[in-house]
Amino acid sequence: MKSLSAITIGLLLLTSFANANTAAGKQQISKSKSTYHWMKFNAADKYARSKVADLGVTIEAVVEDYVMGLGTEDDLKAAKASGLLETSFPLTPKMLDFPAYDSNFHNYDELTTELEKLAAANPGLVRLSSIGKSLEGRELHLITLSTDGDDMSRPAVFFMGGHHAREHLSVEMALKLSQYLVQQYKSDNPRVTPLLANRTVYIVPLVNPDGAEFDVSAGDYKLWRKNRRNNGSAYGVDLNRNYGFGWGGGGASTSPSNDTYRGPSAFSEPETQAVKQFIDTHDNINIVLTYHTFSALILYPWGQKYEHIETEKDYMVHKTMAETMARWNGYTPQQSSELYIASGDTTDWAYGVHGIISFTFELDPGMSPDKNFDPGKGFYPGQKLIEPTFRKNVEPALYLLEHSDNPYRVIESTSTAYGFRADIL
Ligand SMILES: [Zn+2]
Repeated sequence: MKSLSAITIGLLLLTSFANANTAAGKQQISKSKSTYHWMKFNAADKYARSKVADLGVTIEAVVEDYVMGLGTEDDLKAAKASGLLETSFPLTPKMLDFPAYDSNFHNYDELTTELEKLAAANPGLVRLSSIGKSLEGRELHLITLSTDGDDMSRPAVFFMGGHHAREHLSVEMALKLSQYLVQQYKSDNPRVTPLLANRTVYIVPLVNPDGAEFDVSAGDYKLWRKNRRNNGSAYGVDLNRNYGFGWGGGGASTSPSNDTYRGPSAFSEPETQAVKQFIDTHDNINIVLTYHTFSALILYPWGQKYEHIETEKDYMVHKTMAETMARWNGYTPQQSSELYIASGDTTDWAYGVHGIISFTFELDPGMSPDKNFDPGKGFYPGQKLIEPTFRKNVEPALYLLEHSDNPYRVIESTSTAYGFRADIL
């Protein structure tokens, strides 16, 4: 989750605040869990929003001249001291959902079973392996789709889900994508079958299995975001602030108790190390797409600074692809830092170090003026959203695969202006 782009729903959000400040809103989450608070800050532009992000709060909604953020008790203290906070209220159990209602989501064991089934039923196309182990020893499952024994002989797209524990829909998106591509290949889909004959697809559906398991443990959701690193005084490192390009910059906390804690050093966590090592050793990966939730956005570097990508043709490829994909899923395409500064994320590193064209999707739900939006439902929108969210994001995935031999084709019509030369790509 990075932020919401809606700009016309202020009244709805204010209504949510008003409702939550009633007696029901004063019930606290039980002491066995972290108490989270929704906070509203006055912040009219990206510079002000970056100051909020620097408090360690995760910004969940950007609305005209204010933002809504989510944070812990410590974050709330910092927010109050900052002078930027307008109001806050604690999240109540009522705002969270129960996994029993969401049985179509897959926990780690169920995900493992699905991936094993997919691989076992499709030898010669699907391979299940692992890019490494999580802190608690869970395999970071990798699905490789390749009709060639040597998957590295073909251009590839690397899809990831589940960097943030509570963003379960991102895991379902990645899992369904793997199943869909296999099904369509086998049924001779005239588009998918030739595509898979010439491309490699890498999918890691769940980068943060420890956090995801913790989030659904003991029967209810916990709004957990980070991995499960024991920092002594608190748990967890924000894996999407732990990557090693611009690590330690803005929008990433130095405090272990914060939800955006960057970790003690770049790539301090086994999960980010595994992703790094995989990308470092797979030169055929030309595009990365990392799924998050929520707010319906397509984001591209930079996140760590306000400037555009310096290489004009690289900037134009990201921009053009993001705008094209937005036509299919209806999301808002933009440079990540247009929302606020955040450092140490996956896409800044993948592009910054390897020059890989890299996107973050913040999946559904978005926010719309005609919807009675409950902010607590953003991360737990219910299983009914799995299928429609997947459907609208199939075309962007196919588009990336089609262009993974040479993403610069999307700006070929303006290639002269950007110094494009096919022979050096
Ligand atoms: Zn996220």
